[in-house]
Amino acid sequence: MDSNFPSEKLEEICDDECQNKTRIFCQRCPSLVLSPKQAKLVKKEFFLPNMFQKNDHTPIEGVTLNDFWLVTNMMTFDNVGFSKAVDNIMYLICADCEMGPIGWHSIDDKKAYYIAVARVKHG
Ligand SMILES: [Zn+2]
Repeated sequence: MDSNFPSEKLEEICDDECQNKTRIFCQRCPSLVLSPKQAKLVKKEFFLPNMFQKNDHTPIEGVTLNDFWLVTNMMTFDNVGFSKAVDNIMYLICADCEMGPIGWHSIDDKKAYYIAVARVKHG
């Protein structure tokens, strides 16, 4: 489940204003990450390491993803965790099972948190 998201599926998860239509969950556990209409779909190229658990080493291998949910305020999240910053990038991880990265945040931009569409469950 690490490939990019098919565009016809994007229409099923975002509304006319490009906001998330559905709730957004962790892929591995029932943890709710975002409620509907809290994030905006954006196209952005970003390299994310393959999924790992918090205490493992960050894998060197990963994939460049293009579809992200943009959240402008950290308080918007229902549940989210952070890994420690590496080169000013913090990875977003599940608050409960600590799998990630499900997204990323640059500490240089306090108003942008990105959740990878391909790494969360919509429903
Ligand atoms: Zn989880």
